[in-house]
Amino acid sequence: MNLFKPENEFKVGWCPICNQGWQVIIMDADTGKLFVQCEECLSVWDNPRDLKMPQKALSNGIDLIEDVPPYEKIAKEGWEQYLITEVQENSSM
Ligand SMILES: [Zn+2]
Repeated sequence: MNLFKPENEFKVGWCPICNQGWQVIIMDADTGKLFVQCEECLSVWDNPRDLKMPQKALSNGIDLIEDVPPYEKIAKEGWEQYLITEVQENSSM
């Protein structure tokens, strides 16, 4: 079982638009709705299903108040399956 470190960001993918930043799950502090946002170019997706599709990104003019969502909320949305867990380097069996 992998314990998720809360200080980690909720990475879900590598941005297909700028190819320079991670896509992370953020929460709009105003509405509590979850989004996926690129750390670099700030492109936003409203569903992690569409992560790899640049054409599905919302216009980056949308007005979000970024916040870090609680893990429980991500789990409740069913988005935890998209999270990237970084365990490869630690497995020295
Ligand atoms: Zn990007």
